[in-house]
Amino acid sequence: MHLREWSYSFSSMYQFISNGWKRGFRVSHTRFSLGFAVLLYAVCNSVNADKLIKWFRLGDGLDLAALCAFLVAGLCLFTGFFALLAHRLTIKPLAILLTILSAAATYFIAKYNVAIDSSMVRNTIHTDITEVGQLLSLQMIPYVIFLVLLPTVIILKADITFRSSARYLLDSLVLIVVTLGVALACLYSNYNGILRAGNVSSKYIVYSLVPINIISSSMAVASKSLRPWLRRDAKAIEITGHVSAPGDLVVVLAIGESSRKKNFSLYGYQRRNTNPELQTISGLHLLNGIARRGSTLYALPQILEKNEIKLPMMVSRMGIPTACYVNYTLYDNCAAVGEITASHCRHEKCYDEDVVPLLENDLKSYGSGYRFLVLHLGGGSHGPIYGDRHPPEFLRFQPTCDDADIASKCTPEQVYNSYDNTILYVDHVVAEIIRTLDRRGAPYVLIYVSDHGESLMENGVMFHGMPPGMALPQEQAEVPLIVKSSVPITIAPRAEYLQPDIFDTVLALFSIQTDMFDASGAFIQKSAAGESAR
Ligand SMILES: [Zn+2]
Repeated sequence: MHLREWSYSFSSMYQFISNGWKRGFRVSHTRFSLGFAVLLYAVCNSVNADKLIKWFRLGDGLDLAALCAFLVAGLCLFTGFFALLAHRLTIKPLAILLTILSAAATYFIAKYNVAIDSSMVRNTIHTDITEVGQLLSLQMIPYVIFLVLLPTVIILKADITFRSSARYLLDSLVLIVVTLGVALACLYSNYNGILRAGNVSSKYIVYSLVPINIISSSMAVASKSLRPWLRRDAKAIEITGHVSAPGDLVVVLAIGESSRKKNFSLYGYQRRNTNPELQTISGLHLLNGIARRGSTLYALPQILEKNEIKLPMMVSRMGIPTACYVNYTLYDNCAAVGEITASHCRHEKCYDEDVVPLLENDLKSYGSGYRFLVLHLGGGSHGPIYGDRHPPEFLRFQPTCDDADIASKCTPEQVYNSYDNTILYVDHVVAEIIRTLDRRGAPYVLIYVSDHGESLMENGVMFHGMPPGMALPQEQAEVPLIVKSSVPITIAPRAEYLQPDIFDTVLALFSIQTDMFDASGAFIQKSAAGESAR
């Protein structure tokens, strides 16, 4: 090729590009949505890929299937989200806003190794200008050029075409349905691996995935700030019912965390004696509890909610003094009454035992009548570092597993030792509750139940949590349900007791009559002797 031909082809190429640049480039709205999502997602996440990949370990190797499924699911969710909001007027501003936020998130993850969660978003909203100034640095320049300016110019240059309203809606719908379908298929097919990485990293894999982290935490902040308005609606719910037979009884409902029945010696566990204290207490009713939801957020309403009515609200509206004492929050399950969190704790940090003084203090004011007390022993047996859930003096079974990466770094022996130490501590806390109740002398019925169990690598499953619609493995479904009372009671014999039956039981113990729900699940009856005793 001669020099002249070279220069000709170069100049024509230049002509083509510069014409295109002036004209902008034409692209359909679905192609733009897809292309924008893929590029933004791929570029931003490849910057910090190492920080994400390291959590998807399996033994010495990489759980590639779970990592790919997680990344594809994240991309699909982002694409679907973008397509949902990408209309003629919003598509460019939204794309630019997401680009700027994603670039900022990518920079802060790279430089400060931060997790982008809802507290981070709240902080950012409340950051003032001087603080922003302090965060700026020269290192930001490449991020600003390549992750903000360049993409913004390209977005502005795009000539995005929209079809007629009907076709546009159909195209968007197809894109949303397909991406959502692929995302769900990816998540369900590799659920165990993704859950393991999520647990081991304390959800860091979500908090570091741009822009899923920004979108999910912004939505969490928005829903939290909207809650006061929504709660006004909750107050409007009319509650009907009455106490048919007044009496003297304190009902204590203690809700545990991730403690599975299988490791309670009371229920026949042989490996170690995990219940030395409860074994010395007579009159315990050991029932086979069944959980249907594998995460605290969804399990608590199984026990504390029926037809969108929370049990503490229902009971307190019947004029029965009600209180919730917690080590970890009950979320909104006790919002109507208000929860009191343990403070002035005995150790450097608070443990489940620090709820007991709150119970004792409450009982000091008890004279007669009905009273309802909910205790959330939310530390319980929650992983991944089981040793964090109990004070050092309960580190009895050794050697333990002290690494969050349980599946790769610890032997089954170590995992069981660590987990059994938490059960030993649950044993102590529940026994303390019973001793406190006995000491105060108020007539009581105590119900202890765990929110769900825990898998310890049975069939390759670790920790807890299953997506909605999937049955829980036996280890997560079978929970201890222990009843102790100082008044005569009879317990309906059943092979299994479901968590929603506890709701019915509490209503029955307080003789609350209501036609708001089917309360036929109640399993504790005050005996005739109990009636005459009051
Ligand atoms: Zn839980």
